[in-house]
Amino acid sequence: MTLASAYPPAGTGLVKHSELETLSQGVISQVNDEPVVSVLVAEALSWSSLHGLVVGNTSHERSGTIPGVGLVHAPLSLLPSPFPWQAFSQAIELAPLFNRLVDRVSQDADFLRQALARTRKADSFTARLLDIHLQILDKGVKQEIRLGLHRSDYMLDMATGNLLQVELNTISSSFAALGSLVTSLHRHLINWSGDRSGLEAKNVPENSAADTFAEALALAWKEYGDNRAVVLMVVREEERNMYDQYWLALKLFKSYGIKLIRKTLSQVIAEGKLGSNNELFIGKQVVSVVYYRAGYSPDDYPSESEWDARLLLELSTAVKCPNISYHLAGAKKIQQELAKPGILERFFENKQEIVKVRSCFAGLWSLEDENSDEIIKEAIRNPEGFVLKPQREGGGNNTYGADVSEKLIQLRKTDGGTGLAAYILMQRIFPAVHPAYLVHDGIWSCKETISELGIFSTYLRNGKKEVLNKEAGYLLRTKVADSNEGGVAAGYAVLDSLYLI
Ligand code: ADP
Ligand code: MG
Ligand code: MG
Repeated sequence: MTLASAYPPAGTGLVKHSELETLSQGVISQVNDEPVVSVLVAEALSWSSLHGLVVGNTSHERSGTIPGVGLVHAPLSLLPSPFPWQAFSQAIELAPLFNRLVDRVSQDADFLRQALARTRKADSFTARLLDIHLQILDKGVKQEIRLGLHRSDYMLDMATGNLLQVELNTISSSFAALGSLVTSLHRHLINWSGDRSGLEAKNVPENSAADTFAEALALAWKEYGDNRAVVLMVVREEERNMYDQYWLALKLFKSYGIKLIRKTLSQVIAEGKLGSNNELFIGKQVVSVVYYRAGYSPDDYPSESEWDARLLLELSTAVKCPNISYHLAGAKKIQQELAKPGILERFFENKQEIVKVRSCFAGLWSLEDENSDEIIKEAIRNPEGFVLKPQREGGGNNTYGADVSEKLIQLRKTDGGTGLAAYILMQRIFPAVHPAYLVHDGIWSCKETISELGIFSTYLRNGKKEVLNKEAGYLLRTKVADSNEGGVAAGYAVLDSLYLI
């Protein structure tokens, strides 16, 4: 197993072969030396526990409801994974462009509604979100202050060397806090192990995701302009990734003196009301910013009360992160529509920006229009080349491999194929494979893996004023090469950081 075999050979312009060689030597020297790895793992795990790089342990019943009970280190990669710096800087350069794109798409109600018209008929969850969107439009609710905490995810396509976008998350983009901690951990381990790893901490780029997310929440709070107000985090009743969330709350208070309260949607409807100017109150507390870390999945709405809560929040004057329009702009169907010829031109004037954004689009196809038949047949013939995606978030929802054929055949047969509109089809990206030490629940293993890069970004607008538009750190997620899905919370991937080459 060598890292040198992981990337395209020298001469493609992507990475220098010699750099990979040097890097692989350091790592391989440890593959052959189990005691060294075990010592490094012990250091990683104690560091994680001491620095809050932790999640709730699924085997502990109360670990998802009571902070401080049943903690375990976050699943992690022992060492950072190699990644070409050109691709990293390209992804960073795209961040402010995608922020602006989301904002502009969110303001184009006609585009959103037309693009999602067929999806609406086939997918009841999207339909409910669109209902709320319509009510906001009908009631003329102003969304002057708009806050985005986004994460655009990419994979490096091995065949072409191109950086391709997997998806853009506009709601509940997670791991800003734990992601930046993993970077600190990796830098610590490299320094701690001295020459033995063959790695240099300076090649692991700084990661300020947690601080930058807290900054954006604080600036939105400031724009709203009520010093008494709190930030409301909408959470799930059970959340094993709660420490990623608590970190942001702590930073918000320590750096800005702003308090954050946590409520589920069912608590919101029980305790929430609108004031005479549609201000949001939870009990007696006025809320200036609503930050959703729940509400992106149908499971978050077990009854009508949760939908009532969502509507109440959207009708309020509080800044919503995301507001319903931002939420819809992050739909996979919108990603696919934006990739159609001529559509980006609707949102950008600058041709160079259009070229940059378009260059990271993978093949994306709608399944419901007149021309879809050909691509459906192609995907049935060659399912390995595609991923079938519904309008869902949070991992574990997509279809891969032979299941793509089966599902497409079944969807075509049922109800005249109307169900197809709930999905999009995407080119499957095959990233380079590299070895990594994966650590789960205190146990390490060396596996062939692939990585997915997430670039966080923050955006804040108040009317005509763009208050904030920037890249905000990164998250690398690494998973065994033969696994389809990639979520950390869903149990597929580990948290990782970059070793730039
Ligand atoms: P979600 O919103 O549920 O995270 P994603 O589109 O990110 O949905 O898909 C989940 C995971 O599936 C990704 O993290 C990635 O590992 C894998 N995946 C998604 N799209 C592709 C693709 N086009 N090629 C390869 N893997 C993909
Ligand atoms: Mg994803
Ligand atoms: Mg997503």
